[in-house]
Amino acid sequence: MSTKRKITVAYGDGIGPEIMQATIDILIAAGAQIETEVIEIGEKVFRKGVSTGIAPESWESIKRNKVFLKAPITTPQGGGFKSLNVATRTTLGLFANVRPCRSFFPYVPTNHPLTDMVIIRENEEDLYAGIEHQQTNEVVQALKLISRPGSEKIIRYAFEYAKVYGRRKVTCMTKDNIMKQADGLFHKIFDEVAREYPEIENNHIIIDIGSAIIADRPHSLDVVVTENLYGDIISDIAAQVTGSVGLGGSANIGEEVAMFEAIHGSAPDISGLDIANPSGLINAACMMLVHINQQKVAETINNAWLKTIEDGVHTTDIYNKDSLRKVWTQEFAREVILRLGQKPTKLHAVQYKEGESMSKIKISKYPKADKVLVGVDVFLDWDEKGRDPNKLGKLLSALPSDNLNLYMITNRGVKVFPEGHSETFCSDHWRCRFMASKKGSKVSHDQIISLLQAIKKLGLDFIKMENMYTFDGERGYSLAQGE
Ligand code: NAD
Repeated sequence: MSTKRKITVAYGDGIGPEIMQATIDILIAAGAQIETEVIEIGEKVFRKGVSTGIAPESWESIKRNKVFLKAPITTPQGGGFKSLNVATRTTLGLFANVRPCRSFFPYVPTNHPLTDMVIIRENEEDLYAGIEHQQTNEVVQALKLISRPGSEKIIRYAFEYAKVYGRRKVTCMTKDNIMKQADGLFHKIFDEVAREYPEIENNHIIIDIGSAIIADRPHSLDVVVTENLYGDIISDIAAQVTGSVGLGGSANIGEEVAMFEAIHGSAPDISGLDIANPSGLINAACMMLVHINQQKVAETINNAWLKTIEDGVHTTDIYNKDSLRKVWTQEFAREVILRLGQKPTKLHAVQYKEGESMSKIKISKYPKADKVLVGVDVFLDWDEKGRDPNKLGKLLSALPSDNLNLYMITNRGVKVFPEGHSETFCSDHWRCRFMASKKGSKVSHDQIISLLQAIKKLGLDFIKMENMYTFDGERGYSLAQGE
């Protein structure tokens, strides 16, 4: 029986087939114990009318083999097509996106020669749920969802990663000075999990200054853990500051399945020219080998690749005045193969310990909190001439009350009633907060239904409502600006 590990491989679109061929040649030459099962994804599949870009039998291959090496694909322009990358990550539960960003100075020019950081991005939640609604003529809403288990899983993964790979510090980046509930939860869980790893330094930075630090002094960072959207943005900044998007590989890790790919896209502008840099996919393939416990082969390829870079053998994208030879894509692969067994002398050689792979991430069991309904936010589409918040406030304050009284009105989050400021711009989208009239008393669903009926009788268009709860007595909703 073959001892080779079966993996699913997709050659993708654009430069995909060129860089995948180069990568597979290196894997085979280095003695990787793998057997490839090739599936077709991307443009050709989209054109057959499959809106996800991947056929059902291809899903089966990935689920069976549990390891997927994927070349970039082209997402067709226009509506009707779903992002295959987002679909793969969420369908297969690939919760962690891991992107190492390291500088190869002076062989690859960069202003930040000491960069050696890893970005660990949450991959399944946040605004990527893609739940969006146009609610009024003027306002569209996108829902940001952050869950406790989702946050704990990625944060624990970041600390485990730091432990296994000998990293000294984990930095969390959020915007919890503004999103006190959603980002506040992520930050709170970070603090809780960090206490379990006293040997690893930890800190939290607001994402805006965090992005500036990545652009300005990335060497001060080690492992960074963050939410989906922030991670998407900062990992591109980090890749760029190391010198080229063509160099970075990434891993998408789930509890069962893992997918490995270059961070760049299908580069249609250089497709078919044999000038693409296959390094991103080669580095991703090395992460895959570590994942399937073939650390020694990963080390051999990583070091041969570093030696090739160090010898000044470069593809067009990183070719510079100090390079020695400009090579084609497949020629680059042959040069790496020639150096298998060699180590770099100037750049840091890579060393993986046998058996060095991450264990399964377990998440804590939380006791169910005491959840109490204390009020409701009713959102209205109201566009009466003058858009006077006091007029709307008076109308709603006069509603017959069954334990729910108007507490305030906000417009785009800013309090406009009572005691608003005439300077505040008002759109046609109003959030009207009703709280229990008896302080501390519970609100019932029936009381909310009667309130909505009374609002309807006034001829007002309610577009959405959000119940307001406390959890173990703690407020589970945000205050308004100016409240
Ligand atoms: P891109 O990453 O494909 O290209 C950006 C620039 O970088 C181009 O100038 C390109 O020539 C260059 N480049 C990229 N990879 C290179 C490499 N390996 N060697 C040398 N130069 C390289 O980004 P884009 O142009 O915005 O997107 C092109 C297509 O790729 C789009 O359809 C997009 O949806 C898709 N895309 C796919 C993935 C993926 O499959 N994971 C990721 C990003 C973009």
